[in-house]
Amino acid sequence: MRPTRMTPLSRPTEALPKRDLGDALWQQGWYRFAAHQASVNFGSRPQQAHIDLIVLHCISLPPGQYGGPEVLQFFNNQLDWQAHPYFDHIKGMQVSAHFFIRRNGELWQLVSCDDRAWHAGASCYAGRTNCNDNSIGIELEGLDGDVFEAAQYDTLGSLCASLMQHYPVAHLAGHEHIAPGRKADPGAGFDWLRLQKNLGLDDRYLPLAARGKT
Ligand SMILES: [Zn+2]
Repeated sequence: MRPTRMTPLSRPTEALPKRDLGDALWQQGWYRFAAHQASVNFGSRPQQAHIDLIVLHCISLPPGQYGGPEVLQFFNNQLDWQAHPYFDHIKGMQVSAHFFIRRNGELWQLVSCDDRAWHAGASCYAGRTNCNDNSIGIELEGLDGDVFEAAQYDTLGSLCASLMQHYPVAHLAGHEHIAPGRKADPGAGFDWLRLQKNLGLDDRYLPLAARGKT
């Protein structure tokens, strides 16, 4: 029996409007394959912003506890500061990231990539300070120095690949690399080589300290 061709494959690509591919994945900086929960913690990027840096972080609230609503609440100034003793340390902080990837690979977006999220703080990379201006921040649910889940690498790889098609990304770095001495995330448990291979990137995309690390 002759196999029947699926309708989408038989559709001539010439029939697609030219901007369809990009627009199908990104709408004003919002990624189609993420669940959206808009944070109030963001601002406009400077006019001269060149979005060429992806910054990786990790977070869990309370630290080491996974799967709860606390991180998303924290990024929207809705965390109950009384709920856990640790929350005293972060009380009143107004921060955000563009993305949050849970242990099971679930992807959340909080800020449009066209806007400036508040994840980097005092920072410097590739000769520029204030990395929030030019970067996209991705938080992995986890602990500084601990390992991450295969599902998180899968989601991170797909997300970075799509970001690199849509923005002029030239560098990937950890918070620890853009704020050395002040920040330690994602730390030694993050496998940079795995991400590098997944994306097929050469060494120049990575910080010196992350090259060749497994
Ligand atoms: Zn961080």
